[in-house]
Amino acid sequence: MRDNARPMQLSELRQRLTALGAGPLHAQRVLRHWLHALPADAGRRKPEHHFPKALFGALPALREELAGLARLQAEHPGEDGSARLLVALRDGQTVESVRLPRGGLCVSTQVGCAVGCAFCMTGTGGLLRQLGSAEILAQVALARAGRPVNKVVFMGMGEPAHNLDAVLEAIELLGTVGGIGHKNLVFSTVGDDRAFEALPRGAVKPALALSLHTTKPDLREQLLPRAPRLTPTELVERAEAYARATGYPVQYQWTLLYGVNDGDDEIDGIVRLLGGRYGVLNLIPYNAVDGLPFQRPAWEKAADIARRLHRQGILTKLRHSAGQDVDAGCGQLRARSLDTGERVVALRRRAVSGPSPLLPSAGAP
Ligand code: SF4
Repeated sequence: MRDNARPMQLSELRQRLTALGAGPLHAQRVLRHWLHALPADAGRRKPEHHFPKALFGALPALREELAGLARLQAEHPGEDGSARLLVALRDGQTVESVRLPRGGLCVSTQVGCAVGCAFCMTGTGGLLRQLGSAEILAQVALARAGRPVNKVVFMGMGEPAHNLDAVLEAIELLGTVGGIGHKNLVFSTVGDDRAFEALPRGAVKPALALSLHTTKPDLREQLLPRAPRLTPTELVERAEAYARATGYPVQYQWTLLYGVNDGDDEIDGIVRLLGGRYGVLNLIPYNAVDGLPFQRPAWEKAADIARRLHRQGILTKLRHSAGQDVDAGCGQLRARSLDTGERVVALRRRAVSGPSPLLPSAGAP
């Protein structure tokens, strides 16, 4: 009997399938049906003819158990076609996933986060627990029950590098049985040597998103107080090496904070740091969080920064956090559900200006 308080890992699930008599093809079929949200009898061969008896008998309970790894607690559709999902885990903890326009999905990798970014709601509460790889995958299965998913970005709650084994295990399954193109798997990090070392060794190599936020080492230490002490220059060098090795450009994430990292000095610093690099800079105007002392710059100001960077040869995209009309900041849905005991699928909107959101920032603050 498994201990339900322990996060389920994919490796454990595989072991259980083997113990039930599953060969590699049987295990693959169980995992594929789960990850693609297919009915039990989907496919040419009937399960009773394909599976060993013990496995066939255990399947209904197993499917129920897998469905229970991530259940929809609340859904908040945005005006841009995205939807923020509050997902309940089996132990009662909750995390957020975001269905993005055009088949993307942003998943969480931890309950809470230890990096403690000064502008992030999730960072204020610290790390509560790791997600198991099966719980990360379950967010994809849950989302696919409602809509196709062809891209998965690891930009929700948590720092993927702090739960590296589980995230890499999930990535490998998504890039194989899960049917997602490798460049459509996006590993997002504040920058961590363990991740830079592990990613090139994986059988499935995801694209890389690096949360930069500033070119100034001192400011970065203040904004990301518990991120590894790598300078922006060191981070860019490591990310560049990975991008050249994989052929996927780095997605540099920059949460624009009014009066903090939106000045001319940062524009000059970006040109020096990213000029000639193989990457794209995503500028994401901040989504204000109650109780945190940061503000979003005006859209016109953000657009002007993007234009100036473009003119100086930096490929720059100005983006909103997806679904930012519905408490888009990473961790805000979860925090609100803890406040209100929210239990229903809810719709809540507030006014939003500017073009359609495309991608969330890392942690989508
Ligand atoms: S922005 Fe991301 S890395 Fe920073 S505290 Fe929030 S979830 Fe963690």
